[in-house]
Amino acid sequence: MIQTKGYAASSPTSPLQPYTFERRDPKPDDVVIEIAYSGICHSDIHTARSEWGPAAYPCVPGHEIVGIVKAVGKKVKKFKVGDFAGVGCFVDSCGKCGSCKTHEEQFCANHTVFTYNSLELDNKTPTQGGYSSHIVVKEKYVLKIKKGQPLERIAPLLCAGITTYSPLKRYGIKKGHKVGVVGLGGLGHMAVKLAKSMGAEVTIFSTSPNKEADAKKLGAKHFVISKDPANFEKLAGKFDFILDTVSAKHDFTPYLNSLKLDGTMVLVGAAPEPSEVSAFALIFGRKKLTGSLIGGIKETQEMLDYCAKKKVYSDIELIPASEINTAYERTIKGQVKYRFVIDAKTF
Ligand code: NAP
Ligand code: ZN
Ligand code: ZN
Repeated sequence: MIQTKGYAASSPTSPLQPYTFERRDPKPDDVVIEIAYSGICHSDIHTARSEWGPAAYPCVPGHEIVGIVKAVGKKVKKFKVGDFAGVGCFVDSCGKCGSCKTHEEQFCANHTVFTYNSLELDNKTPTQGGYSSHIVVKEKYVLKIKKGQPLERIAPLLCAGITTYSPLKRYGIKKGHKVGVVGLGGLGHMAVKLAKSMGAEVTIFSTSPNKEADAKKLGAKHFVISKDPANFEKLAGKFDFILDTVSAKHDFTPYLNSLKLDGTMVLVGAAPEPSEVSAFALIFGRKKLTGSLIGGIKETQEMLDYCAKKKVYSDIELIPASEINTAYERTIKGQVKYRFVIDAKTF
């Protein structure tokens, strides 16, 4: 077994604390990764605090993982010792269902094994995430990362990157499109960079007036304070596409009203509480309200290769493990710029 140091939550209300546990010895198709950096996603906070339903404790969060391959099982072909590797939000799936066969393992009909707070396919071994020194993952679920890139700025691509890339790609965002991004946090800042890189004109909707200069630097053309209803009046029918990354309950109606005829609003933000939607906001203008969940392995690799080519990386604050709890508080207050990343040397 591989002795692993990490940080875990032991209850919904306790701060994360140092925690030592074991990873399995590599099976023939496994890759052993020494983690270098691990991003902090708001989903980690929702889960560690049981906001989405009861979590299993101890819980080691983290699904934005990059590191260096330390060992490989004897059947592994894609990776060798010393390679850069990434792990995102899931680490296994049935491999046989329609979703798995069409490279959408996140929607596996039988069992998507999420990176933490989940069970392995044996239905009894708990998974533990990236706030840790090592991880052992089946080769098929490990991403390749080209050398010569800033590894710490790539970690957030494994969740924030793919979650925003996937819907932008699916809805064919390109030059000439007006795209709105709601919430300028981890996902939001990647959405701005990616939508801009695809040629779109981007507007940020934010509750934080002090983020305007950053929004423009990240590539947004317009910045709208979402707290003032008057700001939406002149935006009716303006947007082709709106990506909502907000982590807490809020009203979708002003955004639906801002869509063009046949426009689409995609929810990726996963507020624990439900929101009400008026049928009228959808009927008039034939608007579409839909959701999106991360992306499959094939699309995640495509996104990593795209970001490498376009040099699109996350803006990060690198922290030692001892600052995870402070980082959680700042993330909840919307004060992250724009993703906390843990230096795994400090576990
Ligand atoms: P984050 O860094 O905390 O960003 C969320 C942003 O939402 C904040 O920075 C803030 O931006 C805005 N916001 C927060 N509270 C708000 C409120 N009450 N009303 C309006 N706006 C508010 O979080 P994240 O890591 O980007 O994650 C965002 C959400 O996406 C979380 O719910 C997370 O679980 C979910 N998620 C979903 C997927 C998926 O596959 N669908 C993947 C990853 C994460 P402003 O200061 O600009 O207003
Ligand atoms: Zn995430
Ligand atoms: Zn499956």
